[in-house]
Amino acid sequence: MSTALLEIEDLTLSFAGVRALDGVSFTVGEGDLFAVIGPNGAGKSTLFNCISGIYRPESGSIKFAGRELLGSAPHRIAQAGIARTFQNVDVFPAMTVRECLLLARHRHLRSGPLAAMIRWGRSAREERAALRHVTEVAERLGLGHLLGRPVGPLPHGVQKRVELARSLCMEPRLLLLDEPVAGMNHEETAEMAATLREVNSDLGVTMLLVEHDMSMVMGISNRVCVLDFGRRIALDSPANIVRDEAVINAYLGG
Ligand code: ADP
Ligand code: MG
Repeated sequence: MSTALLEIEDLTLSFAGVRALDGVSFTVGEGDLFAVIGPNGAGKSTLFNCISGIYRPESGSIKFAGRELLGSAPHRIAQAGIARTFQNVDVFPAMTVRECLLLARHRHLRSGPLAAMIRWGRSAREERAALRHVTEVAERLGLGHLLGRPVGPLPHGVQKRVELARSLCMEPRLLLLDEPVAGMNHEETAEMAATLREVNSDLGVTMLLVEHDMSMVMGISNRVCVLDFGRRIALDSPANIVRDEAVINAYLGG
């Protein structure tokens, strides 16, 4: 049994009387590739927004490496070692892949967008180290040959990779991925799944992955939590989840 990295306990949050999260609890162990799945509207994105400090739950607790995160600002949570990607790709279209990655890294290390823009005063050595790091990340994600290309015209699947690379440039201990294969074709999905597995095993980054597509997560995750209408209806290994009656009903019941 691995040590607990993220402990979610009894999270509840309502929007205008609708319980988006209803007493959700689970624990992500260090090194896990942990998936949260569920039909549309199940509360997956809400859960992510709670963990990254964008939403404040009404009750419950979110502990990261033993520390309570509830009430911390999003940038503090990022500094604590939690990076996230978003469901929709959000990049600056005119920037090159290299610039995007450098900006993400500087922003994180300097904690503040203005500081990141100011190039003066930063030592050449620091600059070279950052460049080396983003180049390594890009190469690992198969983006090495695209470093000098503007992000805007790149295909959707490649942009999703850039988004993943951006979050890895922050050297997170925990990576939150919101629907990393949304809008991807079959081949791109398979490639992304392989990359996620590699980042998890080779870089040792613990992952919490939110996906709508059940079949995509089954091959890569080691634990699966299933949400439906804000409630946890199952928490098990992928092999048991696919046989779980409540899970099958939630997916087939629409
Ligand atoms: P998922 O990501 O699993 O598709 P969400 O977390 O986006 O689900 O949504 C869960 C429920 O909460 C849905 O009923 C949705 O309409 C509602 N919801 C989510 N965010 C908001 C919000 N900002 N304002 C009002 N309702 C919201
Ligand atoms: Mg969502």
